[in-house]
Amino acid sequence: AGPDPDMVKIGKRMSTIKHKILVLSGKGGVGKSTVSSQLATTLVSKGYKVGVLDIDICGPSIPRMLGCEQEDVHGSADGWTPVCSQGNENLSVMSIGFLLSQKDDAVIWRGPRKNALIKQFLTDVNWSDLDYLIVDTPPGTSDEHISIVQFMMGAVDEDQDPSKPQTKKVDGAVVVTTPQEVSLAAVRKEINFCHKTNLPVIGVVENMSAFVCPNCQTEHPLFAPSTGGAKKMCEDMKVHLLGAIPLDPRVSVACDEGKPVYETMQGTPVMDALNHIVDEL
Ligand code: ADP
Repeated sequence: AGPDPDMVKIGKRMSTIKHKILVLSGKGGVGKSTVSSQLATTLVSKGYKVGVLDIDICGPSIPRMLGCEQEDVHGSADGWTPVCSQGNENLSVMSIGFLLSQKDDAVIWRGPRKNALIKQFLTDVNWSDLDYLIVDTPPGTSDEHISIVQFMMGAVDEDQDPSKPQTKKVDGAVVVTTPQEVSLAAVRKEINFCHKTNLPVIGVVENMSAFVCPNCQTEHPLFAPSTGGAKKMCEDMKVHLLGAIPLDPRVSVACDEGKPVYETMQGTPVMDALNHIVDEL
């Protein structure tokens, strides 16, 4: 028997994407989707072609954050065409959110159905050439994570041209946390998941690390500064701290409105952090 035909299809789709990054978090509500969407828009602002795949099947928030909630996915002879974010050809998006008939519908699915959809996202979405694919995953480590890692790592590229530089199956994971110990504890588990599945850890992003006062622009640490936050955890776990994004109300306003933060927040600590993080991807 030859290789699994689905793995060959995934290999073909992934072969036109230079970098593939999974965004993980130990807990919900730490800003994982915010970080996924704004890493994507920041990369786009630097001239890269980027795709965002939202596999947070139970709570897809990427379409809203990228301002394309009302769009529909179209099928063609070559699979599903991803949605383009606000007419920007360099930012394509695919999410279960586009497939729901009512935007407020909840998806209550068991593992096998989720796995089948994730596989279909990988076999059928026609991303064409991308510099980066950012995969936004659900919080924690569940079926979705095991599936996406298995499918991406197991992909077979039959047409690999030995004269061309080989792209990695997955570059690795960016893990998002807040500074509190409850979030950091969950992130330690997440990093152990990466080690077990041989998924490289690109690094950790500490989100909501401090509060930027809208009046005086000074930064105030918000949570549990005594624990040393993500910096200490990264030292202990021997992983790289990619950067710290402060809490700034303008971030949530921009995300709620579906606007990229780089449009309104250039020169702020939030954009400085995002620019620094994408330079390390
Ligand atoms: P998760 O994907 O981890 O569940 P979200 O990305 O949905 O979390 O973020 C949760 C909420 O926090 C959202 O309303 C988002 O706008 C807000 N948020 C996230 N990061 C920041 C930040 N750095 N500053 C201000 N608000 C933020």
